[in-house]
Amino acid sequence: MKIRVLGAHGSDLLLKGPTGSTICRSVGFLVNGELMVDAGTLASGLTLEEQQRVKHILLSHLHHDHIKGIPPLVDNLIGMIDHQVKVASLPSVIDGLQKHVFNDMVFPNFFNLKAPRHSLLRAQGLEAGKEVSVSAGISITPIPVNHTVETVGFVIRDDTAAWIYSGDTHHTEEIWKVAAQTPNLKGVFIEVSFPDSMMDIAIQSKHLTPTLLAQEYRKIGKPDLPLYAYHMKPSVREAILQEIAHLGIERLTVLEEGQELEL
Ligand SMILES: [Zn+2]
Ligand SMILES: [Zn+2]
Repeated sequence: MKIRVLGAHGSDLLLKGPTGSTICRSVGFLVNGELMVDAGTLASGLTLEEQQRVKHILLSHLHHDHIKGIPPLVDNLIGMIDHQVKVASLPSVIDGLQKHVFNDMVFPNFFNLKAPRHSLLRAQGLEAGKEVSVSAGISITPIPVNHTVETVGFVIRDDTAAWIYSGDTHHTEEIWKVAAQTPNLKGVFIEVSFPDSMMDIAIQSKHLTPTLLAQEYRKIGKPDLPLYAYHMKPSVREAILQEIAHLGIERLTVLEEGQELEL
């Protein structure tokens, strides 16, 4: 599987440092050019031709930094594609998306609106723990995690490889048990949002700090498993990076916008 990092952060920010600027964008990963895993960044990271190839969007939960790339995608694709883009998530997320975003007030309901022959978006309800196949020979299994709203992480696999995406989470158990038993597991993406100095905020908002990230990763019991950290709040990025450097986890990569991985 080819994974392209469109957004690796928990918000958007232009950071200026001594060696130049870094653009931080909200979470969104493009798999094999047609499957999005979360959609915090989507259209702003892709050409129109690339957007036309997107067939499936998986959402971990309803928070804004995970869904806000969908409306610009729809704006760009009206009249441009013949297929429907499937939006797959838990029923509560699909409902929330139509109630709070595509509600004919904030945005037209492109799950209903014919444009022109069929609706541009098509909902696909997912059930926790149940594997379903999505585009390009890829199967996904949603696994509940521990966040402030109903949230799932995903096991994403094809014939030869699997990887796990945590979604936004605090301390959790089930997804790490699944990780321990997943064959051909090539990597795990785990969120880290705040530095340890903001532990109280991390606990209240049900996120992880570097210390908590290491605790969650070690629950898998595979010390050689590549760990990819993402979802840093950009304003505290430097502090998180310094703490991550002291975790002692050998195969840890901090994801950045523009990176491409082959798993
Ligand atoms: Zn988030
Ligand atoms: Zn969240």
